Amino acid sequence: MAERRAPALRLSFRDGPPADEAAGLILALLDDHAPLAIDDSARLAWVVYFASPRIRDAAGAALASARWPTEVNLEAVDVPDEDWAARTQRELTAVRVGDLVVAPPWDVPSPVGEPTRVIVIEPSMGFGSGHHESTRLCLRALQELKLSGRTVLDIGTGSGVLAVAAAMLGARDVLGIDADADAVQAARDTVERNDVADRVRVQHASLDEPSLAPADVVLANLTGALLQRSAGAVGRLVAPGGVLVTSGFTVDDAPRVRDAYKSLGSPRTLDENSWVAAIFESRTQRT
Ligand code: SAH
Repeated sequence: MAERRAPALRLSFRDGPPADEAAGLILALLDDHAPLAIDDSARLAWVVYFASPRIRDAAGAALASARWPTEVNLEAVDVPDEDWAARTQRELTAVRVGDLVVAPPWDVPSPVGEPTRVIVIEPSMGFGSGHHESTRLCLRALQELKLSGRTVLDIGTGSGVLAVAAAMLGARDVLGIDADADAVQAARDTVERNDVADRVRVQHASLDEPSLAPADVVLANLTGALLQRSAGAVGRLVAPGGVLVTSGFTVDDAPRVRDAYKSLGSPRTLDENSWVAAIFESRTQRT
């Protein structure tokens, strides 16, 4: 059998193992590229495995252009590893959030009884495998909202996970948009795979695209900086009486995000491991 080589990035830390905050930032950025496995058993050098060399190179470029509080050395490596597929598949497993399960194709739970719903996501260029806190927070928020018969706009849909979840939870019409072409492709694949193409469309667009129509429920799992910078454009996309779910920022950034959207009222917040979702829900929507 030909030897399998796994596309990976080796991150070495010259100044010692990264502190929690730096490690969190690195993991968040890596998660954009759906790493299949992260081997951090050697404290000064992590090896991060990706689905393809192209994804590995994109992750490397993103890491190289970010500024880190600690010195990080990056090296693309192809790790000879016959057990690679089995190991990565073991490590990338299904994630449950309330009554939703986000699963890679090889870890789909079966059978699942009502009310559990399973969203199958193929690891790809689109962020959103359920392994990041901000995705899970949005999935929690979605299950607390009344979606039946409502329109949903998912800004920065990534893998399409939230758009598909919204459709499964009863939304009438869902539009996922992403500024990144690879994410758009990934999201379209997710929509097809999960049989919700009759209710979910995916468009290659940025959040400031003027032709976007307001929706009853707007999801924006972005970053704290982008949410603040784009408050005008994002706020305009929330229909009167609608709901805005923001996430992708930490407790430190939460006051600034809350402030940027104060015209929508004061939010309810959910948090997990210092990541936050803020839900702005106008009084007319509450039941
Ligand atoms: N909704 C998914 C993915 C969130 S990651 C989840 O919750 O897991 C954020 C996504 O926003 C990325 O796919 C990124 O490409 C996209 N994005 C970043 N800036 C954007 C912009 N200005 N307009 C639209 N999408 C944007």
